Amino acid sequence: MRFGPGFAIRIPPMDFDIVIVGAGLVGASFAMALRGAGLKLALVEAHSPAPVDHGWDSRVYAISPASVAFLDGLGAWTRLDRARLNPVHEMQVYGDSAGAQLQLSAYESGVSELAWTVESRRLQSVLWLALEHQHNLELLCPDRCESVVLGDDAAEVTLAGGRALRAKLLVAADGRHSWVRQAAGIAAQDKPYGQMGVVANFTCAKEHHDTAYQWFRDDGVLAYLPLPGRRMSIVWSTPDEHAAALLELSPDEFCARVEEAGKGTLGKLELLTPAAQFPLTRQHAARLVAPRIALIGDAGHVLHPLAGQGVNLGFGDAAVLARVLLQRELFRDPGEIRLLRRYERARAEDILALAWVTDGLHKLFAAHGGAVGKLRNTGLNLTNALPVLKNLLVRRALG
Ligand SMILES: Cc1cc2nc3c(=O)[nH]c(=O)nc-3n(C[C@H](O)[C@H](O)[C@H](O)COP(=O)(O)OP(=O)(O)OC[C@H]3O[C@@H](n4cnc5c(N)ncnc54)[C@H](O)[C@@H]3O)c2cc1C
Repeated sequence: MRFGPGFAIRIPPMDFDIVIVGAGLVGASFAMALRGAGLKLALVEAHSPAPVDHGWDSRVYAISPASVAFLDGLGAWTRLDRARLNPVHEMQVYGDSAGAQLQLSAYESGVSELAWTVESRRLQSVLWLALEHQHNLELLCPDRCESVVLGDDAAEVTLAGGRALRAKLLVAADGRHSWVRQAAGIAAQDKPYGQMGVVANFTCAKEHHDTAYQWFRDDGVLAYLPLPGRRMSIVWSTPDEHAAALLELSPDEFCARVEEAGKGTLGKLELLTPAAQFPLTRQHAARLVAPRIALIGDAGHVLHPLAGQGVNLGFGDAAVLARVLLQRELFRDPGEIRLLRRYERARAEDILALAWVTDGLHKLFAAHGGAVGKLRNTGLNLTNALPVLKNLLVRRALG
């Protein structure tokens, strides 16, 4: 049919119960958690997932047992290739003065693992494959949101591809620069740390014995995460200039620098994946919910990676929001603000506690010399000597 000038065609919006924006690990797992909810879902994602080959992904996460339980409940954990997963049985943390250290052990804490290390791309791919077959879900990818109108009864979203979607609830899982959060006018405090997270994978001459290491140093925090075989992954959170200098080194020089910074603990290192860097900020949205909107994952909070808890916190959001929506008994409307506030209240303590701990540790170790220096190293040793405090720390980290 042809229309002359002056005719505007308005395609009626497609109706959903929930539109989720962003299919990163958090948005994808949230969509999966609602597979049996009897709700009609749409998931909008700007980028198709990167293909998985045999190469190693330099984005490696330490996944807490609580997150493993969540992913297992979705059927995603068992679909991961076991040969690419590594348990963390021990953690050794070193301060910046000789002898200051803290050892955490799964055995002493009465748990089977402190965490598992997982490559981001592999987990993403397992979630994506499951979503492609999810009956109550429409995957809209690649596409991105261009405008949103929040009404009393629904949120209406227009996508760059021209489609219009209407939903009772719009869930922002679109990461730290969340477009949805900004469009909804939810303020977020953004505090750049002036640091980069430098990541890379290595083969190592010595066994890691399923131990993760962390060194608080003058030039930031260096973490070694064990990977299967004699391999490991690093996150070196370090000032921008130092990160730039590290990335300019030749592969041999970079290996020597990481080896020396880690006190030769795993012997000679060889580069498995080239170094990459990510800017580090702390971000905290003023609210996790607003009428017709809920934020999950980095859209709601971004942490310093020194505690390795960012994506774990996001999985916690996804699990709790899904549970609130599944148990909505009296509320037929999944975007009802009283329901959304249950989610916000349930997440407040975890988010605040982790933001406080990671930011506090960062500040404590960023201050150079003097009384603060003594205090932090004494603190590590004291914590190491107090089994009750250590167990409390481990319980918190396990989620
Ligand atoms: C160096 C480093 C190391 C880290 N290590 C750990 C660790 O060991 N353990 C841990 O728990 N956490 C770690 N983190 C934190 C972790 O990376 C994040 O918390 C996690 O990736 C957030 O996931 P997300 O799904 O919320 O957001 P993202 O992964 O940012 O996903 C957002 C998705 O939304 C899509 N999107 C964005 N805008 C739009 C739009 N307008 N329309 C459609 N789609 C859109 C994007 O394409 C993307 O796929 C680390 C972070 C850094 C920087």
